[in-house]
Amino acid sequence: MNLIIFGPPGAGKGTQADFIVNKYDLYQLSTGEILRNEIKNKTELGKEISSIINSGSLVSDDIVKKLVESFISDKRYQDRLIFDGYPRNLTQAKNLKELLGKYGQKIDLVLKLSVSLEIVKKRILERQTLEQRSDDSEELAIKRYKTYEKSTEPVIEYYKKLNLLKVIDGERSIDQINKEIGDIISLI
Ligand code: AMP
Repeated sequence: MNLIIFGPPGAGKGTQADFIVNKYDLYQLSTGEILRNEIKNKTELGKEISSIINSGSLVSDDIVKKLVESFISDKRYQDRLIFDGYPRNLTQAKNLKELLGKYGQKIDLVLKLSVSLEIVKKRILERQTLEQRSDDSEELAIKRYKTYEKSTEPVIEYYKKLNLLKVIDGERSIDQINKEIGDIISLI
């Protein structure tokens, strides 16, 4: 199966994706992580995108599409991808459908972790102390939350209409969320 997990920055997407990856032997495709690695490794792409990422804006749809295709086209990841941080807008959702179709695949489930801005701010500040990500600060947290809401909500609606969406209360404990996700996946 291929899944998408949605949630604003700080919603615990990464933690929940880790859980699903281990339990169901999936591969987590986190576009944010791949892009940050490009910056860390000082690749040509990394140099091009570092100021965009550090300002909290989105990288172009075409750049991300190329990155995502390199995973979808790889037999090792066939029907075992969990998309984390992608798609972020309707163009990306359509690109994803096209790419999956090209390689004979589809999305089987879309999970949305629902968390308020207040909780996101608190979690981002905690993570800033632990991981020192250069794109973590309260001001940027608010900007990224709003960017997330504005650009991702139409995408979530798109998957809702396709009957693929399950909304999960992301303000509960990690264990409670794990359990609910496990129950949902067992019904697919
Ligand atoms: P994330 O870790 O998913 O919050 O992503 C961190 C940053 O990487 C975002 O603020 C964007 O600048 C960039 N990024 C990650 N995924 C995407 C995407 N699907 N489209 C455009 N930019 C992205």
